[in-house]
Amino acid sequence: MSDYDVIVVGAGPAGTCTAIHAARQGLHVLLLDQKKFPREKTCGDALSSLAIAELNSLGLLPRLLEIPHTPVQKITYHGADTSSVTVPILKIDDTASEAGIICRRILLDALLMEIAAEEEVEVVDWCRITEVLVKGGQAYGVKGERGGGRGVSWTAKVVVGADGSDSLVARQMNMPRYPEYRALAVRGYFRQVLGIRGNIEVHFPEEVLPGYVWFHPTETSQTNVGLTIPMDVVKDTNIKPKQALKRALASPELKERFAFAEQMGEIEAGVLPVGNPIREIHGNGFILVGDAAGLVNPCSSDGTTNAIISARIAGEVLAKTCKGESWDEAALREYPYYLWKEIGPSLEMGGRLLGLRTPKAIGSLIRSASRRPHNAGWISGVLLGSALPSTDLDDFLSYINFFSK
Ligand SMILES: Cc1cc2nc3c(=O)[nH]c(=O)nc-3n(C[C@H](O)[C@H](O)[C@H](O)COP(=O)(O)OP(=O)(O)OC[C@H]3O[C@@H](n4cnc5c(N)ncnc54)[C@H](O)[C@@H]3O)c2cc1C
Repeated sequence: MSDYDVIVVGAGPAGTCTAIHAARQGLHVLLLDQKKFPREKTCGDALSSLAIAELNSLGLLPRLLEIPHTPVQKITYHGADTSSVTVPILKIDDTASEAGIICRRILLDALLMEIAAEEEVEVVDWCRITEVLVKGGQAYGVKGERGGGRGVSWTAKVVVGADGSDSLVARQMNMPRYPEYRALAVRGYFRQVLGIRGNIEVHFPEEVLPGYVWFHPTETSQTNVGLTIPMDVVKDTNIKPKQALKRALASPELKERFAFAEQMGEIEAGVLPVGNPIREIHGNGFILVGDAAGLVNPCSSDGTTNAIISARIAGEVLAKTCKGESWDEAALREYPYYLWKEIGPSLEMGGRLLGLRTPKAIGSLIRSASRRPHNAGWISGVLLGSALPSTDLDDFLSYINFFSK
């Protein structure tokens, strides 16, 4: 007899939302994190329209809107050639009051953990998992250290690896890691950036293409400023992301906006495990969610949205599996099936759109969006590789190819 139905390792958005979904289905859930909460997580702090729709359908949006955040309605895109356009963010859920939100992760993740505890999830922070317990190839629990030294272990029917981009669960269960399918991202907080108007800003300096630089306004009068760049570009060009960000901010286009800016704290770096190709994310007695499963959109670098979607699908499959007789690889197979069915096309499109991000294509798309405001939302989806219809992918890519010529 196991101590729990489900043990979730990691309390970022993927882990807390999996725990909430599973607990609501009547499962007995333990949620663990190595850090003492509230804790910082290096991130751009942006929640997409789709992430907001997911949180709304979980009934969590009203709680999110009670904590400090910045609502954002628009994105301004700046090409390398001085072209720019401001477009509204398309709202995916009409009943949600906001299209996009910037919410610092120290606040968001603490809120989600608090909500998990209210849903009867047993939550233990400051508990580092050092080993997945495995017998006959079947995961059946975890072992770790609590509060900086005391050894602990618990058993469960299923272990959920929600432990981020360097997932111990994924490594120990020998899941393929695809180190080449990664991006690097860096971010810092700056006070007194001039010209911040409450919009998200996306800049495409030539040096970092097909990556980009973002400005995300937070509620503290500080701006989250960062850069994302695919790992193959980092390797091929030997570019140092922190220095590339500093160079971009000192460029003739941006330097006046940083004339009085003060950097708050260090510039922090993180790895983004991008979600193409589709990979193995489950086995006997375990599944992976969020960054542990490598679900970041390659084009937008948005990872929170797919983390929350994977949590919903995981919750549904766990409820069915844990109430059954067996929780082996075959019993958990519905999880990757439904996940890749739902997000696979947008990840594939994200990867293909990234390859088309040339200075010329970006400039053309930005000018096209300013001339055709009725198409601006759609073109914005192209620029960031976000939610777009996947059925007409090939027509759509021919259209983009036209712009890249
Ligand atoms: C610089 C940067 C900017 C980004 N900007 C954005 C953005 O603006 N919008 C967006 O949507 N995405 C963004 N992302 C991606 C986003 O941060 C991740 O995709 C998202 O956090 C994934 O959530 P997660 O719950 O899977 O993992 P995480 O948020 O990484 O959570 C994993 C948790 O597991 C815990 N953990 C790890 N190992 C163990 C262990 N052994 N034992 C116990 N606990 C453990 C960690 O402490 C952590 O709390 C950005 C990423 C970076 C690096």
